[in-house]
Amino acid sequence: MSENGKLNKFWLWELTRPAFEDWVENESEPVIVLGMGAIEQHGPHLPLGMDSLGAKHFVHEVAKRTNSVCFNPCWPGYSPHHMGFRGTVTFKEDTLLAVYMDTIECLADHGVKRFVMSNHHGGNSDIFSLTARLAKQYFNVMVAQPSGPSNTELAKVYADRQKRHWDVHSGPTETSGALALFPELVEMWRLENWEPALKMDPKLYEFMDPDREDFELVSQVRNATMPPVNIDFTSTGVYGTNDPRTADPDEFRARFEERVGFFVDFINLWKTIPVPDAFKD
Ligand SMILES: [Zn+2]
Repeated sequence: MSENGKLNKFWLWELTRPAFEDWVENESEPVIVLGMGAIEQHGPHLPLGMDSLGAKHFVHEVAKRTNSVCFNPCWPGYSPHHMGFRGTVTFKEDTLLAVYMDTIECLADHGVKRFVMSNHHGGNSDIFSLTARLAKQYFNVMVAQPSGPSNTELAKVYADRQKRHWDVHSGPTETSGALALFPELVEMWRLENWEPALKMDPKLYEFMDPDREDFELVSQVRNATMPPVNIDFTSTGVYGTNDPRTADPDEFRARFEERVGFFVDFINLWKTIPVPDAFKD
């Protein structure tokens, strides 16, 4: 439903055509919030849809607080590096790019000029950025990819944990998110005998210490040495060296709130700047 441009439902697929039309015509600066996630193995305890489920919760919360419409055009992302584990469904790079380009093109045709994108899977990063660049070029729309806040206490805790333990996939950080947002899909009991599953040259472990003076150098050497397919460096599909059972859903809720707040502030501020003439049809 949308009346005088004010939505009370935010998923594109839940709106009627007249409701969508009312929103495009009467909302002063309509914004579409697009999520990008993945369907891929997430260790023994997290659902395959972890990243897309996270994207779904995030974009909906942002849309609700900014009178925006949210849409996740597809469930899979770009995850060929996870294919060694069963259950992963990846789109090829061209497919994923085409899905998002087609989505933006259609919504641009219907009069939307502002898009905000949110990525929830590291493997998508390059395609995610390329989408924004190409959509702007080809469809004459503004595409934003806000990122932040990175200077809060909690942001520093997250960044340090990621650096120190390579907690980027199915470790405590993602487990906290799943326990906060969809606890019914998490199977913590599968971690009963958890131990670090990373398989690397022992020397490379030493390169994971962010307190080293030469960390900038050695961490890049480590990255350069990681195999392309993750079954070759993790036996369980979990990357980090820290224990996912230390997950803290309350900490995640606080970080989620910070990140949603950043997107909301971004959109509200952005809407105070009129669409430049260069973007007008
Ligand atoms: Zn993930």
